[in-house]
Amino acid sequence: MLNIARLKSAPEIFYSLQGEGTRSGTPAVFLRLAGCNLACKWCDTKHSWGNGILCSTKDVAAHILDYQCDSLVITGGEPLLQQAALTRLLRLLPDSMHVEIETNGTIAPTPALEQRVNQWNISPKLPHAGNPHEKTHQPGVLAHFATLPHAWFKFVVQSEADWPAIAALGLPPQRIILMPCATTRAALEAARPAVVDMCLRHRVRLGDRLHLTLWDDKKGV
Ligand code: SF4
Repeated sequence: MLNIARLKSAPEIFYSLQGEGTRSGTPAVFLRLAGCNLACKWCDTKHSWGNGILCSTKDVAAHILDYQCDSLVITGGEPLLQQAALTRLLRLLPDSMHVEIETNGTIAPTPALEQRVNQWNISPKLPHAGNPHEKTHQPGVLAHFATLPHAWFKFVVQSEADWPAIAALGLPPQRIILMPCATTRAALEAARPAVVDMCLRHRVRLGDRLHLTLWDDKKGV
């Protein structure tokens, strides 16, 4: 069984465009899992923290396949809290389906899950997210992800003051993406210029948030 985030009364599985990262703009099915091991102050998916809806992997696979889309984005919450069920789900989907997992970088993937995932979007949390340091600081997990060539590191940043904590992690700079801290279109537009400056200064990639530009803070799109 998978514990899937509840949006209104339905499990949160929907078809949209990837809004973040290197595949921004790509049509994909989204599967949002319930539960997270962190509690970021500015989390834009707090509805995923509580009890979700339990669904069989078979039903979830059928729902995903109904969209006839060859790309799947698994997000949360923290998807790696449900690795065993996720691995079972992915065995029910075609090998040709491109699978991305969004994770906060605090839990290492199992070998079985790792070998099936095409792209990892890791978003380590900085101090301004308000989590206890011991929960977010998992250098061994990040070091493992850094060995995977298809792993990208997306940081939500507020200001230049965030950079030392990012640099201290020693991640490959060509796979670092900085994203403005924003949960609405207006906040995104206000925060973007400072992040552009940071990207130019530190020679790392800018990650915009296409879904906010397109749909503002609407959920399930
Ligand atoms: S890790 Fe992600 S889902 Fe969990 S609280 Fe932080 S932003 Fe929200």
